[in-house]
Amino acid sequence: MKKRVAVVGAGWSGAVTAERLGAGGIDVEVFERAANVGGHSRAETLNGVVYEPNGAHIFHTSNADVADYVGRFGLSRPYEHCVKAQVHLGDDDALTLLSWPPQLEELQELALWPTIEKELAALPEAPAGEDFETFVMSLMGPTLYNLFIRDYTAKQWGRPATELSSSFAPKRVELRNDGYRRLFRDRWEFFPANGMNSVIEGVLSRSSVTCGVEVLLEDLVGMQGEFDAFVVTAPLDRLLGRDGELEWRGVHLRSRYIPVERPEETSTPAYVVNWPDLRYPFTRTVETKHATGQNVMGTVVSEEYPGAPARHYPVPTVDRRFEALNERYKEEVRSALDRPVYFCGRLANYLYINQDQAIEQGFACSTEVLGDLTGSRS
Ligand SMILES: Cc1cc2nc3c(=O)[nH]c(=O)nc-3n(C[C@H](O)[C@H](O)[C@H](O)COP(=O)(O)OP(=O)(O)OC[C@H]3O[C@@H](n4cnc5c(N)ncnc54)[C@H](O)[C@@H]3O)c2cc1C
Repeated sequence: MKKRVAVVGAGWSGAVTAERLGAGGIDVEVFERAANVGGHSRAETLNGVVYEPNGAHIFHTSNADVADYVGRFGLSRPYEHCVKAQVHLGDDDALTLLSWPPQLEELQELALWPTIEKELAALPEAPAGEDFETFVMSLMGPTLYNLFIRDYTAKQWGRPATELSSSFAPKRVELRNDGYRRLFRDRWEFFPANGMNSVIEGVLSRSSVTCGVEVLLEDLVGMQGEFDAFVVTAPLDRLLGRDGELEWRGVHLRSRYIPVERPEETSTPAYVVNWPDLRYPFTRTVETKHATGQNVMGTVVSEEYPGAPARHYPVPTVDRRFEALNERYKEEVRSALDRPVYFCGRLANYLYINQDQAIEQGFACSTEVLGDLTGSRS
């Protein structure tokens, strides 16, 4: 008899797990809380303009298996993502558009350069420090830290950089000296012309999916007679009926439609523009039309406001207490069920992961489930 697996959540991680399990001969049922599949990567349209209500989602990877995999579902349109920052260099309100990450060759043109240069010369050989501020100051000096990072971080996290772990700094902060302007250094970078929805729908096209159903722990307990295993990509505090115990930093995007005079016209200087200064309550603007290249008589610009009640960024406190709490939740879920349960994706693991890493998690999770249920390890 075919083994049956229930997958909770139809974002990238649930979709890929379901597809791989289906390909491995498992009978899969996917349950999704939202009205549509796609999770956080979903795009919407406003007056015919594709935009991203959950923030910019650029697909990038250096994993050839992941690049091949998404190519099978139509995600292969090349894109090069370059980010800008609107920076206040003086005491007045004037803004200067610079590259993010900061580029030495651009900085050398600024009146502030002699100060920056002196600070860079005094830096330690390698950046170090347990908290985010100490680490980044040791990477770029106080002037660049204050211009690009200090206030952006305070806005983004709602707490000063001194209270945050430096663990995520090496991935997020760089000072460039090589003229490389793209944000990511991955081998492949793609952006779908119509947004990510049709790609994830394609991944799920052979799976049985029920949308509009939120699955909680008691539902899993009740479903044990029907399924041989569960894959959970949902947040565990909510699954356990203890919504909100696990702290996340959320963002809210305020999106507005702007008419344009020519179909190729955009309104902001780049797909993503950072606004580090505290004078602006938002952290960045997102204009997806730069990435889709849509020819349409309008555009949508979204301002990203931090501090929304949404599960977006796990809070990296120095003591890592929320990661520890999430591990205890996993034990609680396991001990409430007689069937094996696997945790996959960003929410169930309390992680920030990019889409390619969510796909890698789907690969790894499906391999583990197949191994446990059928003895296959391919
Ligand atoms: C602001 C922001 C910007 C980002 N930008 C990028 C980027 O540029 N590039 C990139 O590669 N990645 C980006 N990411 C990361 C990307 O969003 C994630 O990698 C991806 O969403 C992970 O997929 P997932 O399936 O793990 O989670 P999700 O996409 O969140 O999917 C989880 C799904 O589970 C459903 N669900 C939750 N609880 C239940 C329940 N109890 N019952 C049933 N269903 C449930 C949800 O509705 C959702 O559909 C960004 C993330 C954030 C927060």
